[in-house]
Amino acid sequence: MEHEADIAVVGGGFGGALMAMVARRLGSSVVLIERGRHPRFAIGESSTPLANLFLQQIAEEYDLPQLLPLRRWGEWQREHPEIGCGLKRGFSFFHHTLGQAFSDDEQRRNQLLVAASPRDEVADTHWFRADFDHYLVQEAQRIGVDYFDQTELASFDEEPDGVTLGGQRNGEPVRFRAGFVIDATGPRGWLYRTLGLARRELPLSPATSGLFAHFKNVGAWPSAPGEPYPVEAAAVHHVFDGGWVWVLKFNNGITSAGVAATSERAAKLGLPEGEPGWQRLLAKLPSLAEQFAGAEPVGEFVFAPELSFASGQISGERWAMLPSSAGFVDPLLSTGFPLTLLGIQRLGKLLVGGIDRADYERQTNGELDQVARLVGALYASMGDFEQFAALAQLYFAAVSYSETAHRLAKPELAGSFLLCDHPEFGTATRDICESVLRLAKRDEVLAKIRAVIEPFNVAGLAEPAKRNWYSVASDDLFASAAKLDSSEAAVREMLLREKLL
Ligand SMILES: Cc1cc2nc3c(=O)[nH]c(=O)nc-3n(C[C@H](O)[C@H](O)[C@H](O)COP(=O)(O)OP(=O)(O)OC[C@H]3O[C@@H](n4cnc5c(N)ncnc54)[C@H](O)[C@@H]3O)c2cc1C
Repeated sequence: MEHEADIAVVGGGFGGALMAMVARRLGSSVVLIERGRHPRFAIGESSTPLANLFLQQIAEEYDLPQLLPLRRWGEWQREHPEIGCGLKRGFSFFHHTLGQAFSDDEQRRNQLLVAASPRDEVADTHWFRADFDHYLVQEAQRIGVDYFDQTELASFDEEPDGVTLGGQRNGEPVRFRAGFVIDATGPRGWLYRTLGLARRELPLSPATSGLFAHFKNVGAWPSAPGEPYPVEAAAVHHVFDGGWVWVLKFNNGITSAGVAATSERAAKLGLPEGEPGWQRLLAKLPSLAEQFAGAEPVGEFVFAPELSFASGQISGERWAMLPSSAGFVDPLLSTGFPLTLLGIQRLGKLLVGGIDRADYERQTNGELDQVARLVGALYASMGDFEQFAALAQLYFAAVSYSETAHRLAKPELAGSFLLCDHPEFGTATRDICESVLRLAKRDEVLAKIRAVIEPFNVAGLAEPAKRNWYSVASDDLFASAAKLDSSEAAVREMLLREKLL
């Protein structure tokens, strides 16, 4: 069988499906080629305010209104109760000492709770990827994308007038002719392997491994009076020296949980063994062991020996990788979705000649590198939670500033993820992260962070009086309007329009 299309997207996860929809809306004929079959398990589940904003921008720019309910908990529950979803009101971090029960003092030195939304209706979500990705692929088909699942590609031949992809579908040979190919198969994916590309080193990023599964019957993490949001309605991170555990609860009784740890810590815990490794980890985290006392895995444990990765080349004359195929950094800061969605927006522009390959490569690699630096500095601080929490404020300051700038229609203030292209913020973040790896004095690091985030701090971050609990307070935004070249009235109007007030 031979199929022809303007664009071939390889990899039918959420990234590939959305990319195919965008290309279709640009008027191209599109084939979407997936090795597996939906619904299927996929990891990478926790969304963020910025990711949801990018999803909304894609929906609005490319006339894809069917995506809009998926950007917020309330609309999602009303319009798509059949798509599994988790309520995410914020980011919760708890710091553990291995071998001891979790404990904290009055200053809450062992926790950091940062609210991302003021109430459930407008909250972020965890995407139950089996349902979510399946829905998107069906929607892609509905607008005219030709979808080929269970298709294993074996060859990529680039000619002056197009590309031929060859492979097998259900045991039969199949060929696709396309003008341009987009690889959405994930890190170390199809084009990286097929073209035999070199690997690129990510700055400061430690080699980390992951072990994860879905569970049922997971207990509750204790809540505390006055917390800024129900503490479990969040991406919950349990940090310890050399690694961290995530716990994400869905509305279908399933909980996603896993651990990412330096290779050294992973080897010591025996994580490559799967479930026995997970049980050994829990034995060292007694409070978490209590929460998981009655838990049962649903499906297999997955061990990922090496999480971080970057490809040395990410585009060619007739092909490009999504950011999620171009590279990956340990998921500590949930950066996969926003980077993927930014990449989809940029590739949409590239397809119509709005940006060129060099722009795409520079932005994609630059953002990945900045995430790697910050995650590297955070890993180096996992034994010192005061420094860890301060470094995390670089992330929260950059994303809350960027989100507000975009919502105020001032995208020029925040043109790159984590403001990495910003001459002051981007450079200072790089310097701070490098200084952490050089073991700079903690007081100096904290002072630098405070100074760097101040002009971008629109969310009342880094205030000692808040003792590591940050709610969403519109007064913080009003007071910071000038930092966004804006006025209190304009911020109020934006918050009302977005139903955030
Ligand atoms: C442990 C872990 C936790 C994460 N947590 C988060 C998080 O909380 N938040 C966040 O934002 N990001 C997270 N990420 C990142 C997130 O998973 C990715 O950003 C996201 O999955 C990218 O989506 P995608 O559709 O581009 O790729 P994928 O989800 O990787 O999908 C790739 C698709 O391509 C298909 N495929 C693979 N090879 C081929 C082939 N040869 N031919 C055809 N099809 C092929 C696969 O079957 C799959 O359907 C996490 C990642 C990991 C590893």
